[in-house]
Amino acid sequence: MSSSILVVGGGIGGLATAIALQSTGNDVTVIEKQADLHSSVFGVGIIQPANALRALDAIGCAQACLDAGYGAAAWGSMYDADGNFLRDMPGTLIEGSDFPPMNGVTRPHLHQILTSRANEVGVDIRYSTTFEDLEADAAGVTVRFPGGTTERFDLVVGADGVRSQVRRHVLGAEIEPHYIGQSAFRVNVPRTPEIDRIVLQASRQGMAGFVPIGPDLAYFFYNAEMARDARPPRGHLKEALLGHIAHYGGLTGRVRDEYLVNVADDDIVLRPEESLIAAAPWHKGRVVLVGDAVHTVTPHLGQGAAQAIEDGVVLAETLAAHDDHEAAFAEYTARRYERCKLVVDTCLAIGDWEKGLLPDFDNIGATNHVLTVLAQPF
Ligand SMILES: Cc1cc2nc3c(=O)[nH]c(=O)nc-3n(C[C@H](O)[C@H](O)[C@H](O)COP(=O)(O)OP(=O)(O)OC[C@H]3O[C@@H](n4cnc5c(N)ncnc54)[C@H](O)[C@@H]3O)c2cc1C
Repeated sequence: MSSSILVVGGGIGGLATAIALQSTGNDVTVIEKQADLHSSVFGVGIIQPANALRALDAIGCAQACLDAGYGAAAWGSMYDADGNFLRDMPGTLIEGSDFPPMNGVTRPHLHQILTSRANEVGVDIRYSTTFEDLEADAAGVTVRFPGGTTERFDLVVGADGVRSQVRRHVLGAEIEPHYIGQSAFRVNVPRTPEIDRIVLQASRQGMAGFVPIGPDLAYFFYNAEMARDARPPRGHLKEALLGHIAHYGGLTGRVRDEYLVNVADDDIVLRPEESLIAAAPWHKGRVVLVGDAVHTVTPHLGQGAAQAIEDGVVLAETLAAHDDHEAAFAEYTARRYERCKLVVDTCLAIGDWEKGLLPDFDNIGATNHVLTVLAQPF
């Protein structure tokens, strides 16, 4: 069945979903409220586990990500705050593929790759565009745009992220992500030879780490325990970050002293970490949700974007397999729910461990378990 489909949100999940749906014979329009492809990119770099690469391969984007990024031979290594080695984290491979356990790529590169592919397969992307209202009936969805114009679509996909407006139409206004008490600092740093995988340094106050995202580029992150309203004012991000990591030795200490002390405040991104796993159904009538709009994933496993991309691939598969969109949406949710819940719940447990609330939690064992489960077919 070929449908006209509106995807609200041109982020990672929206673009991946649009490519998958257009490639299976649908006529897809994406509306993105930001002005262009670059202004819709938030943050610095993205971890792509092997399961993300498999999903990207299904929409023709994996090789470009590997070419643009840094494929690591292993997932990562864990050190203490002084820089003493604790444990290796091998990661998992996908049977029958050559994908590395982890590829790191810059967010602008990933957006460029997804946008080029979307254009190539014929997706209509409209920037600086949002919607005001959706009215679904038995035959389609009337979408009202600012200014009063309307357009009919067979189906609407809400890929509008953590603050989703489409979610209200599907789940009601009371289902919202919650802040988990941590915020993430991110800043690009030069890649040095020891950053050949994710390098984690745990302390009792938070988690520091490095992710390679290109031959010469990595990003540094620090997951800080922070009240929602305690965000440092503009111009004080560097001071706050340096304060959080003042006690670190090892790689974090070296990069702090040799590089981070000299970065500009504007180069640092600080994002609150929010979490949600909505119960099924993830659709109402002809409107369905993907990505952070329905399962908001904190960064502890580098899986949020991966899950959003998998959503898009599965949604396209189920719509192609069913004449009845309700049956397709129900199968989509059934195939996605447990995987996404495992990711969301394990991220929360790792976050609690980082905050000192679960001292006996084996975060490396939990990470390996999730990666192993996610390497199974989706
Ligand atoms: C600090 C941090 C680090 C992370 N690191 C990783 C990582 O390394 N690996 C990983 O896999 N995941 C990571 N994640 C998670 C990942 O970023 C998200 O899970 C992923 O971006 C979700 O994609 P999405 O398309 O659902 O939402 P988004 O990427 O947020 O995209 C939503 C899009 O919708 C647009 N939009 C919103 N409302 C409207 C509207 N009304 N009309 C039109 N457009 C609209 C927005 O402008 C945006 O472009 C991280 C998250 C955080 C907070």
